[in-house]
Amino acid sequence: EAAAPILSVNNIEVIYDHVILVLKGVSLTVPKRGIVAILGANGAGKTTTLKAVSNLLRAERGEVTKGSIEFDGNRIEKLSPNELVRRGCIQVLEGRHCFGHLTIEENLLTGAFTRRDGNAAIKEDMEKVYAYFPRLRERKNSMAGYTSGGEQQMCAIGRALMSRPKMILLDEPSMGLAPQIVEEIFEIVKDLNAKEGVSFLLAEQNTNMALRYATYGYILETGRVVMDGDAKMLRENEDVKEFYLGVS
Ligand code: ATP
Repeated sequence: EAAAPILSVNNIEVIYDHVILVLKGVSLTVPKRGIVAILGANGAGKTTTLKAVSNLLRAERGEVTKGSIEFDGNRIEKLSPNELVRRGCIQVLEGRHCFGHLTIEENLLTGAFTRRDGNAAIKEDMEKVYAYFPRLRERKNSMAGYTSGGEQQMCAIGRALMSRPKMILLDEPSMGLAPQIVEEIFEIVKDLNAKEGVSFLLAEQNTNMALRYATYGYILETGRVVMDGDAKMLRENEDVKEFYLGVS
């Protein structure tokens, strides 16, 4: 029953620029095939937590100075972002970051850069991405920069899928999108999780939406986990309702 987690973050501390302490001992676990949410206000440390896992902190002059991170049974703090992608752990950055001057299809192809299994397999996976995201198929020859925010978010997730990930670190997928599009994207995340077995660690300010799709959540405040629990418990918790769900 107690299956080994796909990800465990153990008491990590993150410092930017050698002095700015941003994560002050964060621990969390993502079970295999789980969807887990990191919640909290702007600046609480959600993005930093994801980047600590994907090892994208260095580009921001940040570093993990304490604690450990295990992915799929191995310590990963010293691995490069590319090596992590090869092992099945990939981040979808906040703000989507598609290549605006490439078509949707070209963007998807860039997601296969770590693979060595040839064009047939890549083509097959592209079809799979289009099956999950029919809007991307419709727009495959459009320059990504001219597609809608929702399509760009789908493109960013689709591109990550092209690396055949075991886990996606998904940063604020709802940002700037209409509720209906957010729901569409979360439904696809749920499907990918159920049918492909992809695990998700999801940073969201949209607590309500995140707790509808995640099974477990962690609430961060100024670099510390102040509460965690099953999504259902968090949705019903009075403090969570008051401070994060906009219901008093
Ligand atoms: P958001 O939703 O705005 O991304 P967040 O919860 O993801 O918020 P982080 O982006 O992780 O929060 O930021 C946490 C804290 O770290 C903030 O106080 C932020 O100002 C600080 N911070 C983030 N990046 C850097 C950096 N490169 N250098 C210094 N401080 C940083």
